[in-house]
Amino acid sequence: MPIFSSPAFEDHEALHAFHDAEAGLNCLIAIHSTALGPAGGGVRMWPYPDDQAAIDDALRLSRAMSHKNAMAGLELGGGKTVVIGDPRKDKTPALFEALGRAIERLGGRYWAAEDVGVSPADLVHARRQTGFVAGLEGHAAASGDPSPVTAEGVRRGVALCVRRALGKSLGDVTVAIQGVGHVGAILADKLAADGAKLILCDVNEAQAAAVAARTGAQVVAPDAIFDADCDVFAPCALGGAISARTLPRIRAKVVAGGANNQLADKATGQALFAAGLTYAPDFVVNAGGIINVAAEIRALERGETYDAGWVEAKLATMIETLADVLDRSQAEKRPADQVAVQMAKERIAAARRA
Ligand code: NAD
Repeated sequence: MPIFSSPAFEDHEALHAFHDAEAGLNCLIAIHSTALGPAGGGVRMWPYPDDQAAIDDALRLSRAMSHKNAMAGLELGGGKTVVIGDPRKDKTPALFEALGRAIERLGGRYWAAEDVGVSPADLVHARRQTGFVAGLEGHAAASGDPSPVTAEGVRRGVALCVRRALGKSLGDVTVAIQGVGHVGAILADKLAADGAKLILCDVNEAQAAAVAARTGAQVVAPDAIFDADCDVFAPCALGGAISARTLPRIRAKVVAGGANNQLADKATGQALFAAGLTYAPDFVVNAGGIINVAAEIRALERGETYDAGWVEAKLATMIETLADVLDRSQAEKRPADQVAVQMAKERIAAARRA
């Protein structure tokens, strides 16, 4: 089973495998880097077809968290847990308690939060066994739902890109939003309040209709969003929205949204740049959620309460960093996503040296 020769391996510090037969737990905790601080990243539960798929996902996702946390200016490295199982039928309190014991054994080198397939209610059980879990509710340090902070960061990122690419403000543009779940719906509310015209879609028709009713948005079919007559395309659904198939259809001059892994591959980032579009790299512009979780970790470590002012300052820095990325992309004539990855690596390397 390749680890060091996996395409997803890139200088990772550790890959831990934990098994608890009684609790039915098989999980991997990948730590990409602790150069900037303890590794932070969510717990994903997924019915991986085989162990290799789980290993590759843990390696890939923990590296992505390193890059995201570094670009957000957080004192956090990158880590990720993958629990092998079906979240619809394999979840038990005992499984999450066993996960909590596994996290505890890492002695604070890794902080967990929720991710795909895992809810705050599940992590309550893990928290009984370890203090290194964030993203819960009902305590003074708790950060609550990260989605509003993610959406606010994306809104500011869209505003920056629109100003730079079109010389316009949010009230003068049309934004097409793909997916109006937790992040997309709040982004729609915010942009509507800014006076933007909205076009949106969601595979959940009722959800799309509800958001449209309160924002005055036009609803289109999920696949028609790529042909929307708009200034900004905001992917807020699943990964891979921008691909060789969809890019030629996108009429927007700006791509900026909340979804993770928006580009299907590196070549798409190159093609997007060559087509003259302004792209806000996803892991830079959607870091509001991890900033919010970092505020909780910081408060727990210091025995303090959640500090909204600290989150606001980090969001402001995030937008300055996005501006730096776009400046460098223009100056070096390289795609913004490649520039952002390089900047993240530079920050991590500098912290390692220090
Ligand atoms: P969510 O599940 O609440 O919302 C996703 C929405 O997209 C759902 O309403 C779903 O029906 C819709 N959707 C799925 N496929 C679609 C398609 N092909 N076309 C149109 N709509 C589709 O998730 P979320 O928390 O809003 O997260 C959205 C994205 O943002 C994800 O990629 C997530 O990883 C990323 N993200 C979220 C946060 C956060 O704070 N929640 C932070 C960073 C990144």
